[in-house]
Amino acid sequence: MVAVTEFLYIISAALFVLALRWMSSPETARRAVVAAVTAMIVAVGGTLLHPEIVTYKWIAIAAIAGTVVGYPLSRVPLTAVPERTGLSQAFGGLAAALVGTAKYYLWLHEGGLNSFRMGVVSGEVILGCLTATGGLMAAGKLAEYIPTRPLTYKGQNIVSITLLVVAIGLSGLLVWDPTQSWAFPIVIVLALIFGVLLILPIGGADMPTVISFLNSYAGLSAVAMGFVLENKLLIVAGALDGSSGFVLSIIMCRAMNRSVTNVLFGAFGSVQARAAVAEQRTAKSATAVDAAELLSNADSVVIIPGYGMAVAQAQHRVRDLFDQLSKRGVDVKFAVHPVAGRMPGHMNVLLAEADIPYDRLVEMEDVNPEMPQVSVALVIGANDVVNPAARTDEKSPIYGMPIIDADKAHTVLAIKRSMNPGFAGIENELYFANNTLMLFGDAKAVIGDVVKQLSGESAGH
Ligand code: NAP
Repeated sequence: MVAVTEFLYIISAALFVLALRWMSSPETARRAVVAAVTAMIVAVGGTLLHPEIVTYKWIAIAAIAGTVVGYPLSRVPLTAVPERTGLSQAFGGLAAALVGTAKYYLWLHEGGLNSFRMGVVSGEVILGCLTATGGLMAAGKLAEYIPTRPLTYKGQNIVSITLLVVAIGLSGLLVWDPTQSWAFPIVIVLALIFGVLLILPIGGADMPTVISFLNSYAGLSAVAMGFVLENKLLIVAGALDGSSGFVLSIIMCRAMNRSVTNVLFGAFGSVQARAAVAEQRTAKSATAVDAAELLSNADSVVIIPGYGMAVAQAQHRVRDLFDQLSKRGVDVKFAVHPVAGRMPGHMNVLLAEADIPYDRLVEMEDVNPEMPQVSVALVIGANDVVNPAARTDEKSPIYGMPIIDADKAHTVLAIKRSMNPGFAGIENELYFANNTLMLFGDAKAVIGDVVKQLSGESAGH
């Protein structure tokens, strides 16, 4: 039976690796999901065949409880997926921490503790606990239950690092003498508090990157759990999870032109003090009729979708607009910013749902050199990702973040409901620029009106 389990674990590990490979392209992403789910089923199946499992009662109870909690969590709208991911990380971390704690007391009782075991248990518990509270905090910030602005106080980094150092020091003591059991609960409490302190000073706009970091911590705690439970597949899967989370965090930091330390310790996303200066400026607004005329006379249109398109669920209307304009010979492209929306690939998923041809999507670095020749940049519910302050205003919290240069197009049409700021909480000069016309309203309704104008026009011809 052991040989069968080992064989199933190898198949499962290979499928996990392939799933990650396939995830990197939209054409193979669906296959990746099937491979990953199959890998998980094979892994669970292989574990259940293990000879030392004599009673399945607790496993059945856990599986039922997991399904009852997990099913509603899987039904959240796409816009709430980031906070749901934060919750998943929290559960993953909690599970690792609980397994580590149970194993510690079991081994303490049986006299099975040695330095190696104590080392991996400590790693598992520290990483698991900080991921558990960190994940909850990140989910709370993304869902705006907790203020999304960075919460800072004097000497914050010193307090946090001292806590971590004490937790690691006490773990060292336990490795040296595992029977010093008074120290173990203190390690747990310190790691739980450290998770909270880790997220407090980080602004909401950095949460996606933080979630990705938490992913890698959860992966590392799973690796430690693999050593604790002597389960090789858990070590492999945890390592894949940990490293892919880390690589994704680095990619996201690059997309925002931020260093890792700056994301983890800088107070990004704070409300700009300058916004308090009550400057009365007016933005020019246009109607659906104006927009339809401008768009149908354009040679080229670059559509820049953002979070607002997701909120309005406007992707199908956007597809209608794409059809209408393409029919008139207008060259329409979609410029997708790597952090547009609220999760990596958010815009790609929505545009794919509306069957926008994939070859019409262009990356930020490819579209930017073309922007000065573009007739109309149509900004649909995007804000931070087209904010020129990122290029020009050194004091802006988003200074240095690469943006899509919508402002360089001949004309900019921007759809949003009000003059409210976007996720980073800062004003956007783009809306006050001379070449910008605002189309105020819900993105779905506004685009619907523009499409109506265009189709009415073409019916009249
Ligand atoms: P954004 O800066 O959050 O701006 C979205 C805009 O959409 C808002 O200004 C809002 O203005 C408008 N809007 C909301 N609902 C709308 C509706 N129904 N119809 C029309 N407009 C609507 O979005 P973004 O430009 O996509 O930038 C993403 C931001 O989120 C970045 O700061 C990024 O760092 C952060 N973030 C990204 C991720 C990720 O992984 N992609 C995850 C979390 C956070 P009104 O209220 O005036 O309508």
